[in-house]
Amino acid sequence: MPLSAEHAANLIAIVGPDSARTAADLAGADPGVDPRNFGAGLMLRPRTTEALARALAYCNASRIGVVPQGGRTGLSGGAESRDGEVIVALDRFAQIESLDAVSRTAIAGAGVTLAALAGRAAAHGLAPGIDLGARDSATLGGLVSTNAGGNAAFRHGTMRERVLGLEVVLADGSVLSELRRVRKRNEGLAIEQLFIGAEGTLGVVTRVALALVDRAGSPATALVAVPSLDAAVALCDSVRRHPEFELQAVELMSGNHAAAVCRAIGTTELATLTAQPYLVLVEVCRPDAAAAAAALAAWLEREAARGTIEDAALAQNETQRQRFWRIREDWAVDRERPGGLWYDVSAPLAALPRYVGGCRTRLASHDPALELFVIGHLGDGNVHLTVNAARPIGGRYEEIAPLLTDELAALGGSFSAEHGIGLEKKATLRRLGAPARLDWMRRVKTLFDPNGIMNPGKVL
Ligand SMILES: Cc1cc2nc3c(=O)[nH]c(=O)nc-3n(C[C@H](O)[C@H](O)[C@H](O)COP(=O)(O)OP(=O)(O)OC[C@H]3O[C@@H](n4cnc5c(N)ncnc54)[C@H](O)[C@@H]3O)c2cc1C
Repeated sequence: MPLSAEHAANLIAIVGPDSARTAADLAGADPGVDPRNFGAGLMLRPRTTEALARALAYCNASRIGVVPQGGRTGLSGGAESRDGEVIVALDRFAQIESLDAVSRTAIAGAGVTLAALAGRAAAHGLAPGIDLGARDSATLGGLVSTNAGGNAAFRHGTMRERVLGLEVVLADGSVLSELRRVRKRNEGLAIEQLFIGAEGTLGVVTRVALALVDRAGSPATALVAVPSLDAAVALCDSVRRHPEFELQAVELMSGNHAAAVCRAIGTTELATLTAQPYLVLVEVCRPDAAAAAAALAAWLEREAARGTIEDAALAQNETQRQRFWRIREDWAVDRERPGGLWYDVSAPLAALPRYVGGCRTRLASHDPALELFVIGHLGDGNVHLTVNAARPIGGRYEEIAPLLTDELAALGGSFSAEHGIGLEKKATLRRLGAPARLDWMRRVKTLFDPNGIMNPGKVL
């Protein structure tokens, strides 16, 4: 049912007329990754925690669904909104309030983008300890709420390990403020941890206290082609154990993914690499760039001599380095063949080759027209499996999911690695989630949000 004109007027009055966008305003705006993000015809953009608290108290009393949104880069449909609901956008909470370079902590509004925090931290020789392709748009509130991972998680953990404290507005308008800046704090149950990965279903994150990490030196980056996923895993282990440089990133892509990106961006010089089954992007750091490049080149030569790699290209300058990252981060396959399916899974690294091999076998016997594209954060055993075919297969998510997800628990992995459940993985959670855990998740939801106004229909 659409939101009544009276409710809309009251909510706009609470946040102020200059802090709301109506359906007409949203019509021409960019909804982000998911076109259904702007389904609700009203967006509130509160400027303060107090205004947001009053708006949530009103929604709670009137049973109006609230969908928090940050950068709208989420990949599981968690920010989708429907008619009758209200979007709460955190873009006005965009201040980095403090950065303590000695304690290596920052306090920032939920609407601060990852890139903005990284830029400010870099000026102090620090970094957020988390990095991902959507860095320019993804916000701290969204990163916390999805417990985002990305390419640095194998070194510094996911958002759960980066968060020291949170300020959260709860469904009833009360404010939980736990903006501590220490890692060691044992004061009973860490309630704020429940909001990390809650995907906006328990409350709205407004401010975040984060642990920062030391920024590494200068990078050297290589694209390395390997004959198999077993070889990629062995290479990952070798580079992680190397004593002469600090490993920054070890990212995986299948040759067909890399070839699609190279076609899209018109790069032909990497054709011998992209013809191989898998490529690994390796980025290492040393205090100066020349030393980093020399150490990486020496390691690559040793690996080539051992016969573990097929071919490699070392980035000669920043433009080439950016291009290598683009080959990993671009999703040209989805543009070339719209209507594919994405699965975001993780397996213990040692089991990854067997797992992906099994997926290939099951897909081929299920439907030989299906093609598998693999990208991922190799160090975490986290792969994004894109299943595609010559014809759009967008409606076949649930049919194909069991082929890729049902083996994971026995291997010690997860059917939902880093993008969250949102709407997309709800059925898989229902199918594979342990009944006791689902039961406690429902109880926790009811405790924080008895009227079910927070991000209705998501996750559970
Ligand atoms: C190119 C690209 C690359 C990506 N790479 C990665 C990757 O490597 N690793 C990874 O983990 N993810 C990745 N993602 C997914 C996405 O960037 C992350 O999920 C990110 O954390 C979402 O942040 P956001 O601000 O865009 O959140 P949104 O998309 O706006 O929201 C995501 C979810 O969080 C909730 N939410 C948002 N803000 C708040 C808040 N303040 N309080 C409560 N709930 C809130 C929403 O309701 C929704 O459920 C990628 C996305 C893209 C487009």
